Amino acid sequence: MKEIVIISGKGGTGKTSITASFAVLGGRDVVIADCDVDAADMHILLQPEIAKTEDFYSGELAVIDQDICTQCGKCFDVCRFDAIDVKEGIHLVNDLSCEGCGYCARVCPVDAITNIPLNVGKWHISNTRFNQPFVHAKLGIGADNSGKLVAHVKNVAKGIAEEYNRPFVLVDGSPGVGCPVVSSLSGANFVVLVTEPTVSGLHDLKRVYELVHKFHLKAACIINKSDLNTDKTKEIIEFLKKEEIIHLANLPYDESFTKAMTDCKTVVELEDSVIKETLTQAWKDIKNIVG
Ligand code: SF4
Ligand code: SF4
Repeated sequence: MKEIVIISGKGGTGKTSITASFAVLGGRDVVIADCDVDAADMHILLQPEIAKTEDFYSGELAVIDQDICTQCGKCFDVCRFDAIDVKEGIHLVNDLSCEGCGYCARVCPVDAITNIPLNVGKWHISNTRFNQPFVHAKLGIGADNSGKLVAHVKNVAKGIAEEYNRPFVLVDGSPGVGCPVVSSLSGANFVVLVTEPTVSGLHDLKRVYELVHKFHLKAACIINKSDLNTDKTKEIIEFLKKEEIIHLANLPYDESFTKAMTDCKTVVELEDSVIKETLTQAWKDIKNIVG
């Protein structure tokens, strides 16, 4: 089983539409993992039916038992994260600020504080409308453990691929270069970078490739909307050559991208799409390289 991760240094490059298209082209060969847990949206295109949902816990949260608390204020004095609020003389934990360090519980003279596991989101196993296993998640509002949730989503997807003998796990990674992207790349076999020919597109491609390079991963690149700025496209291609990144495809600007999104479909399902053939060839190339 091979793990293919699709990432982009920035948002808005068409990464998710391209990943969803590969998912459709991959058919029964793929298990799909949406690891963009901060803003998951691949379900809009794949319209899955949820088969299983579970809460995801990571870290801890302090809870004060008001029946025991004497309102002495010692917890307020020691909390370095300003996570203890005092309202009308009552000491309360601010859920969004508490880091679960446990210091307040240690100093509480009457043991009124307990640390409980922190629910930071939900994860799901679903079936796409193409009858493929699809693992996705939603991080809770203000939760900051997206790297761990990404790792969990990937591990569940890999487990399903192994159990059902699917040759590929297709991972839609988060944009940027932060913790969730690092987690997306960990354990991957191949990376597809999606970019666009703009100043920020090239800048963020270079930034994210630095990370990919540190993981010693083989990478390929798709330049989306490549005809909108041919000079910048040439610059990107030069960068790809210099770094020995496989230049997988140039996708011209195609209005069917937007049409597919508004129809809740992938672009490869539209007959009049001018990039359908290029994406189909790109998926064949990826399979050949990875396989
Ligand atoms: S240290 Fe304990 S008793 Fe004192 S205010 Fe905090 S929770 Fe209440
Ligand atoms: S667990 Fe740590 S961060 Fe949370 S309220 Fe207690 S001292 Fe503050």
